[in-house]
Amino acid sequence: MNEKKVPFTEGEIREIIKTYPTPFHIYDEEAIRANVRKLIKAFDWAKDFKEYFAVKATPNPYIMKILKAEGVGADCSSLPELLLCEKVGISGDDIIFSSNDTPYQEFAKAMELGAIINIDDITMIDFLEANGPIPDRICMRYNPGPLLKDGNDIIGTPEESKYGLTRDQIFEAMAILKQKGVKRFGLHTMVVSNELNANGLINTAKMMFELAVEVKERLGIYIDFIDFGGGIGLPYRPEESFVDYDVLSAGIKDQFEKIMVPNGLDDIRLSFECGRAITGPYGYLVTTAIHHKDIWKHYIGTDASMANLMRPGMYGAYHHLTVLGKEEAPADHVYDVTGSLCENCDKFAVDRPLPEIKDGDILVIHDTGAHGHSMGFNYNGKLRSAELLMHKDHSVTQIRRAETVDDLFATLDFSDL
Ligand SMILES: *Cc1c(COP(=O)(O)O)cnc(C)c1O
Repeated sequence: MNEKKVPFTEGEIREIIKTYPTPFHIYDEEAIRANVRKLIKAFDWAKDFKEYFAVKATPNPYIMKILKAEGVGADCSSLPELLLCEKVGISGDDIIFSSNDTPYQEFAKAMELGAIINIDDITMIDFLEANGPIPDRICMRYNPGPLLKDGNDIIGTPEESKYGLTRDQIFEAMAILKQKGVKRFGLHTMVVSNELNANGLINTAKMMFELAVEVKERLGIYIDFIDFGGGIGLPYRPEESFVDYDVLSAGIKDQFEKIMVPNGLDDIRLSFECGRAITGPYGYLVTTAIHHKDIWKHYIGTDASMANLMRPGMYGAYHHLTVLGKEEAPADHVYDVTGSLCENCDKFAVDRPLPEIKDGDILVIHDTGAHGHSMGFNYNGKLRSAELLMHKDHSVTQIRRAETVDDLFATLDFSDL
């Protein structure tokens, strides 16, 4: 269970709307800070534990700067994400470049920033070498494929995923890289996504510890660091519960002591690349109900759309919805809450029991702090919204303005018409 409460009042939001009209995403700075502190503290037993925030989740320099101040690094997978790090002052060991299908220009920028290069395929060795020097530290992304099923109750089908090297390729790549003079190695994986069961995440750690032991035994290489990727889940539904960081940490520590310590592999750095779990629960899409429509079903039309939040339309994802000022009212109406795209999937909620909604009511869509604004797109000429940051004292800073039609037309040339 988790309480789907909002950290602001209707009065505060109506005041904000006078300056920043809906729709907008608003992020709760203090809650983000408290959350990431809790994660880092839970892993205080692990030497130099690092969380690398997956920049794609919320690629905003203000958010990145706040996280940097909390000791968090960045997980990047594109050139613009690397450039954001450069602007925020994140570099070196504080960046892991976990890309795939990567143009060389992006590797070059990552190496210029001193980032840890995490290769997604064995062919990247030749690709890197053909274009320039190979860095003296390389991380490799592991895809366990169907091997994972034996003795591990991990959910998912890694054999269907495009990422990473197979088990054999890990050993082959590492031997080649060692021979080419690479001195330090990391292992990375990400086999779960939006996982709420700590055991799924703990089993990922166990699998990686066993791989590190085998690397030591077969190649004589002591791995420098292991990165468990992202994937800590978000309880989007009120009946779901947050992953308990202390339970997760204790489970991983237990495996570490069983597998790594007896093998002399305790001098290793552990890391995560979580995005969703860090900012997701602490962002809200605020939108106004502008129309209601009663045909075969009852619809509430909002001033937001899939351009602002794609997850419900794209994957049928559940996002909790609060009608401001009606938190205690009975949910005795059933609505589809829609956006304005000419796509029938543009709905934030389907058959959702809610209090009666009137035009002008403010709706808050929960858990949009990660993979929310950043997934936005401009289909139907819709514009992406502003992002606001609510500070501890509830004052608000606009950290990204809303797009304008001029932004949308910036790539068009009207001069010859
Ligand atoms: C998307 C992604 C993440 C972050 O995933 P979350 O679900 O936001 O935790 C981390 N690492 C890599 C390589 C990813 O592709």
